[in-house]
Amino acid sequence: MKYLSTRNPDRPVTLSHALIAGLADDGGLYVPEALPTIDLSRFDGKDDLPAIAAELLAPFFAGDALAAKLGEICAEAFSFDTPLVDLVAQPAQVARAGGRTSLLELFHGPTAAFKDVGASFLAACMARVEHDARNPRTVLVATSGDTGGAVAAAFHRKPGVNVVVLYPQGKVSPLQQKQLTCWDGNVRTFGVRGVFDDCQRMVKEAFADEDWRRQMNLTSANSINIGRLLPQMTYYAAAALWHQRKCGADANFIIPSGNLGNVMACLYARACGLPIGRVVLAVNANRPVVHYLTTGEYRGFSTIPTLANAMDVGDPSNMERLRHLWPDIEQLRHNIQVIQVDDDTIRDTITRGPADWQQIFDPHTTCAIAARETLAAAGNAEDAAHWVVVSTAHPAKFDTIVEPLVGHRIPLPPQLAALMDQPDYSTEIDPTLDALKRAFR
Ligand SMILES: *Cc1c(COP(=O)(O)O)cnc(C)c1O
Repeated sequence: MKYLSTRNPDRPVTLSHALIAGLADDGGLYVPEALPTIDLSRFDGKDDLPAIAAELLAPFFAGDALAAKLGEICAEAFSFDTPLVDLVAQPAQVARAGGRTSLLELFHGPTAAFKDVGASFLAACMARVEHDARNPRTVLVATSGDTGGAVAAAFHRKPGVNVVVLYPQGKVSPLQQKQLTCWDGNVRTFGVRGVFDDCQRMVKEAFADEDWRRQMNLTSANSINIGRLLPQMTYYAAAALWHQRKCGADANFIIPSGNLGNVMACLYARACGLPIGRVVLAVNANRPVVHYLTTGEYRGFSTIPTLANAMDVGDPSNMERLRHLWPDIEQLRHNIQVIQVDDDTIRDTITRGPADWQQIFDPHTTCAIAARETLAAAGNAEDAAHWVVVSTAHPAKFDTIVEPLVGHRIPLPPQLAALMDQPDYSTEIDPTLDALKRAFR
């Protein structure tokens, strides 16, 4: 399997190349040259994520130097579960419509959000891509909070890779601060005296500085890396297989979406032949996807801040992959559906969660729950089907939003509680590339 840039099909690269490069030279995103059809009998007798991942991802690794290590990569990366939980309580209106709902919980990883899956897998891969032992790679990330924590947790103590995280000092939540600063060894975190845009500018300057880039052997691990997207197919494949074995039907998914990486993974899994039915994107007040589907003209918007802030994206990078998959707008309309959820609805749905669903949802998952209620209210027989709502984060991560609405404290999940006792290893620096370079002299 080779990988092509969305902007130029003429320069195929290997998977290892695509993983290390992140973005193609022409600014495009790497996509598989073709999506394989996977014979479902290959999954017979396979039930856990590492086993399903190894089968699912084998064609995507075929011909690459990492193919021989795929089994151990999957075993190492899929170290936490993604359970599919049937919700027994539903609002009366959903129950009346005859629908059923399950939750695909993707928040049992080290930082309690689904991005742990992609980050862990990419880290397990990068640690195994050939490199010069005297010059380890340095993954450089700027973070406004969440991504940096997931990347740091994933790469901590991985051989042959160092991580440098830049975050805006004092501008992340106390919990995020802990998740960023508790790492020692191969992870170094810098609290930049500035805002997120300063951190991002410093990263851009670092990559543009040829000497330092070579000296540090810089690489990135951002969410457009195909090495983060491919493993995310696994939990869709697993959930669809589990659902098929239990209910004898395809699984329909509702996915809280921003940059569209999680959706792409689901669509790729479906294209490979996994028993996946309908795919609905739940989005917040940011409207690039809705605008594109209704008008057929794509344009980016400036970002609108919402309660589901990890989905605050005005110009989703994976739009380029989506349009590459279905260049024709009619194909896209045929294959996905979008439901938009505003902040008032998010607030209302979180507040009703404990009574109506016997669940506390984080603001992102809440968008998908609200979309699920919208589908039931529409009253179409097929909309009343069984829906799998994708739960992208644990509500305790968004305590400042959720706790006032549900009226009580939410206990931290064990992996986050453990972080709270860790020391702070971060260093404060000025918002310049020189200040960062000085820290490595
Ligand atoms: C990143 C994120 C999303 C959005 O996922 P995309 O792949 O960017 O569409 C949704 N929920 C949470 C909690 C996230 O961190």
